Amino acid sequence: MRQEETIRQVLQEVYEEAGAVDEGELAGYIPQLASVNPEFFALSVCDTAGNCYAVGDRGQSFTLQSVSKVLAHACVLSHCDEERLGQRVGVEPTGEDFDSIVKLDQHRRAFNPMVNTGAIAIADLLLSIYGEDALPKSRSFFASTMGVDSLDIDQSVFESELATGERNRAIGHLLKNFKLLDHPVKEVLELYFAHCSLCATTDQLARLGASLANGGQLPGGGERVLDPAVVRKVLSVMLSCGMYNDAGRWIYDVGLPAKSGVSGCLLVVVPGELGIAAYSPRIDNRGTSVRGLMAVRLLSERLNLHLFA
Ligand code: GLN
Repeated sequence: MRQEETIRQVLQEVYEEAGAVDEGELAGYIPQLASVNPEFFALSVCDTAGNCYAVGDRGQSFTLQSVSKVLAHACVLSHCDEERLGQRVGVEPTGEDFDSIVKLDQHRRAFNPMVNTGAIAIADLLLSIYGEDALPKSRSFFASTMGVDSLDIDQSVFESELATGERNRAIGHLLKNFKLLDHPVKEVLELYFAHCSLCATTDQLARLGASLANGGQLPGGGERVLDPAVVRKVLSVMLSCGMYNDAGRWIYDVGLPAKSGVSGCLLVVVPGELGIAAYSPRIDNRGTSVRGLMAVRLLSERLNLHLFA
């Protein structure tokens, strides 16, 4: 285990260095996300023993956006058989943008759960599993993985994406065309957008990361919230696909399972040891927080966190 003092010190250094960067843009394609304070910056680290360290705006909540894909994947794996999921969603990285439609059209199956095609197909499976309670039930499952009772929905972000998400609607219709959805596109997208609009803080995400690092048990000897076999699958897909078209470079340089969201949040797992979360709303052209990316790269380097180090 890494020393507490070292973690605190490196976290502070990295916060100052990455905080000096102001490149990137807010995710204005979801209009409501363009109105957040671009200067927010928080980093949290939680170890499997339950010790948490944080710097910056740790109390600031943000919408999970694509980080919710990790939870939807865990949820569907916990409730449906692998074969059913595998018929609709694979585990191959796309090398494309998160909202790419090209490969879906070519392969007639969603490439993986970490991109929009896969997450929308998974939202449909969750509707089959839970019926009309799909949102409250999946939402409470998501909350349990962070050890909290409930997660708020940012209604304005939800409505903003619902009003503008034509590309996701196009993905929904294409999935439907290939008989990969059993429910109306509108219903499926409402669930998908609601998942993207759930709110958390970096402390909560770091706790989720620590549960994933801990084989599905909440840090500090808490409750088992995920099956170890589910965690193994989720982390594998996060490692190969969580950073979209940056996945190869990310594994090479940082070497950790991760998932980014266009709100500027980033979830990273150091298996057996730590959950790390970053939040800073200015994102690069791949949809990942510029400061978050830099901070995690530096943390991995300075704390020697690369899986193959
Ligand atoms: N809600 C966003 C979308 O579907 C999520 C994308 C992301 O965070 N990468 O476009």
